[in-house]
Amino acid sequence: RELPGDPKTINIPRQVFHACYTKVSPSVEVENPQLVAWSVSVAELLDLDPKEFEGPEFPLIFSGASPLVGAVPYAQCYGGHQFGMWAGQLGDGRAITLGEVLNAKSERWELQLKGAGKTPYSRFADGLAVLRSSIREFLCSEAMHSLGIPTTRALCLVTSGKYVTRDMFYDGNPKEEPGAIVCRVAQSFLRFGSYQIHASRGEEDNEVVDLTANKYAAWAVEVAERTASLVARWQGVGFTHGVLNTDNMSVLGLSIDYGPFGFLDAFDPSYTPNTTDLPGRRYCFANQPDIGLWNIAQFASTLSAAQLISDKESNYAMERYGTKFMDDYQAIMTRKLGLPKYNKQLISKLLNNMAVDKVDYTNFFRLLSNIKADPSIPERDLLTPLKAVLLDMGKERKEAWTTWVQTYVQELSASGTSDEERKASMNSVNPKYILRNYLCQSAIDAAEQGDFGEVRNLLKVMERPFDDQPGMEKYARLPPAWAYRPGVCMLSCSS
Ligand code: AMP
Ligand code: MG
Ligand code: MG
Repeated sequence: RELPGDPKTINIPRQVFHACYTKVSPSVEVENPQLVAWSVSVAELLDLDPKEFEGPEFPLIFSGASPLVGAVPYAQCYGGHQFGMWAGQLGDGRAITLGEVLNAKSERWELQLKGAGKTPYSRFADGLAVLRSSIREFLCSEAMHSLGIPTTRALCLVTSGKYVTRDMFYDGNPKEEPGAIVCRVAQSFLRFGSYQIHASRGEEDNEVVDLTANKYAAWAVEVAERTASLVARWQGVGFTHGVLNTDNMSVLGLSIDYGPFGFLDAFDPSYTPNTTDLPGRRYCFANQPDIGLWNIAQFASTLSAAQLISDKESNYAMERYGTKFMDDYQAIMTRKLGLPKYNKQLISKLLNNMAVDKVDYTNFFRLLSNIKADPSIPERDLLTPLKAVLLDMGKERKEAWTTWVQTYVQELSASGTSDEERKASMNSVNPKYILRNYLCQSAIDAAEQGDFGEVRNLLKVMERPFDDQPGMEKYARLPPAWAYRPGVCMLSCSS
């Protein structure tokens, strides 16, 4: 029997019972590790002086090669439902928490190295991460935050200087890739699976139980509402989390575990960035709201199995998920269109048109703010502001769009908001820049050749997604032809 914080530091994969975590030190091998990039705003959260990033010590500490003074590193035990099936113990297989920083505002931030070597939870895998997936996690954490969406953050990204072997899923051949470590930061990394694992083992004694006044029922509702709100915001920016297993669901309602994620380019409800999820498409873009509910149902049933909430309270949490999701989703879509009130028909007709014509989700909404609320604009000019996104369209489709824009203009002119005011408000919710897969891929290709400039450029651009940023327009472009070639930009779980 292992106790919480057992001083055993062996990292051999095993079942860890009666414990929420295991003390384990990073064991990653490094050779001249390099700092690829770091986030100024996360450094500020942690009261870190920018000078800290300059010294030779920094990449050693943040790769896990040198111990951080005062840290007592550990890996968490959690379980989860993977693709709808209970998978038993999973846990931090390659993430190791260094500890918490209490900043000047008395906020507590947990620092975690991802890719820092094996832990008891590594199962059959190596405990490492490759540069490719680490760049994606680093950039998307910060891009998501700047879009105003709750997420785990990323302080920095360092290379290990060593190579890691990965089987390439598209041709089955093993490939040597540069290794890397991301330092993730969050107020907590607890997941639905952190609770599920103990309930599944009858280990409720690990929870700090205090059955006063429906505390757990209120908590279940809070988790349900935060999750609903998160998924609604993802839908608003066209984000698809590729692996919505319950071990990747944060109890704080944060976006967590950036693996095979993707932002929509062309609007496609069945978009599935994770090749491991084909052809089932359980986690495709349009399924995510339902999957959020499915995951909440698992979480609530964990609490009721542990007799912390009743069946009725469990059902109520699920009901709240549904209500909160619809409220938030409708509000977000209404704001994206600059409408005075929710218009179900107008929005569903729009999404339908966008799917038929494979219209770019981000650029469409950004351009939509150029439409004037003037019903006297002649029919032949109605689509002019949207020219750049309504491409190669036959007569019939042009007519369908013209009809839609006519109705839209009528709605706008009835609203009484000025064109300038509406444009400013729409541009504050419709990003110009999103972290498209092909942009990540270009930065990855350069970084693998030792040039980290593009990672840093992308970070800068994605820190201000709603600003026009003259000179940076190329980062708002549609994917080039090379991005569609087989093998390029293909993603799967856990690299
Ligand atoms: P994911 O699908 O990324 O959420 O990962 C599922 C489980 O696999 C988690 O317990 C991870 O910690 C673990 N895992 C993923 N990649 C690795 C790796 N390279 N080494 C060890 N464990 C891993
Ligand atoms: Mg995970
Ligand atoms: Mg992962």
